[in-house]
Amino acid sequence: MKNTHYDVLIIGGGPAGLSTAYLCHKHGLSYLVLESGKAIFQGISNSYPEGKLVYASKPKDAPMPFMVDELRPPDKPVTVESYLQYVQHFVQHENLLVQTEVDFEDIKDERDGLTVITSKGNFKGKKVVLSFGSNIPRELTVYGDAKMVAKNLDDASKYVGIKTLVIGGGNTAADVIINILKAKREADDTHPVFWAHKAEKFDVNKETAQRLGEEILLGGNIRLLLGATPRIGEVDDEGVDRLVIRINEFKQPDGIDLYHALSFPMQNVIACIGSQGPVPIFDKLHIQSIACTAGVCKIAKEGERLILLSADFESTRKGVYVIGGAISPSYMKINEGSISEERHPNLIYTAINDAYYVVEAIRAKLGV
Ligand SMILES: Cc1cc2nc3c(=O)[nH]c(=O)nc-3n(C[C@H](O)[C@H](O)[C@H](O)COP(=O)(O)OP(=O)(O)OC[C@H]3O[C@@H](n4cnc5c(N)ncnc54)[C@H](O)[C@@H]3O)c2cc1C
Repeated sequence: MKNTHYDVLIIGGGPAGLSTAYLCHKHGLSYLVLESGKAIFQGISNSYPEGKLVYASKPKDAPMPFMVDELRPPDKPVTVESYLQYVQHFVQHENLLVQTEVDFEDIKDERDGLTVITSKGNFKGKKVVLSFGSNIPRELTVYGDAKMVAKNLDDASKYVGIKTLVIGGGNTAADVIINILKAKREADDTHPVFWAHKAEKFDVNKETAQRLGEEILLGGNIRLLLGATPRIGEVDDEGVDRLVIRINEFKQPDGIDLYHALSFPMQNVIACIGSQGPVPIFDKLHIQSIACTAGVCKIAKEGERLILLSADFESTRKGVYVIGGAISPSYMKINEGSISEERHPNLIYTAINDAYYVVEAIRAKLGV
């Protein structure tokens, strides 16, 4: 499979990526979706609250209908769970090609196209569509490598029977802990969950705090580590990747500091340290963006950087297109020699329709 030279490599299996895949499939372009999550639509299942209704919202001034009707949410809103179930059936029915648990890392230009570098090896394509959304989880900054640390909870039962470390001070970390404590309680597992945060206080809303309190009162074994900082990613003598987290530090007058640290197998660790926009990834890929100056941008604030895209969503890196939430709420559109800020609401509608225009542009370029 990896030796295949695809017409289109699609990064991210959300509404934008899957619409791109479906249109490629329909028009006979070879393609592959590379999704970092356990399943398609991981971005949505991670960020929507349980039971949230999905609306087929359309910006007021948008003249076009949903260009991929098959992936459009129904007019009468349904819960996120039913929309996800419908999309999963659709992907299976159409036999769309998706590889999950693949983390996109970089793109290299080759003489005969582009090579996409991922956590699971390299893939070759003529064109690359970046549809990885706007919520890019922050990486832990430690000395060494911490890539094996999970950034979200896909299956709480995985943490039953082991001492788990959750890093982060907000609602997401608290929610992850609640789910793990619940799974442990149901399995009669008394191993603790360590909750580490670099500050001295957690920042959790009342409702989440109440749910966490309930789990603790029902027997949840939780150990709080405040003022704790992840320091080192290392491989131990037995070849296990471990994360060393410093829990306190005593400065000595002789300059030799004393500290306590805990070392967890990385597969026991979940880091919920927030997300960032995709600008750092665009920088890494040498995709150009420009900073908004006073009076130029109406949507972005002064100093914010916006990616430069052609009218058909091609970036300044030839053959690399960017669509969907990754370019919301606005981007800089290059059109006939002029550049202006283009509004781009972060909606399923825009993600789907971007895919349509990009596939049309790619078809024209590849003559398919
Ligand atoms: C709480 C909430 C409610 C919303 N409700 C609505 C609504 O009712 N109606 C509506 O129209 N819009 C709604 N939206 C917005 C809508 O969900 C987004 O506009 C849409 O999901 C964007 O689609 P996308 O494909 O661009 O990105 P995403 O849906 O974010 O998909 C991106 C995918 O890329 C994957 N990915 C990320 N990084 C990598 C990587 N390095 N390698 C490989 N894969 C990667 C992610 O796991 C994800 O599956 C809502 C958003 C939120 C947060």
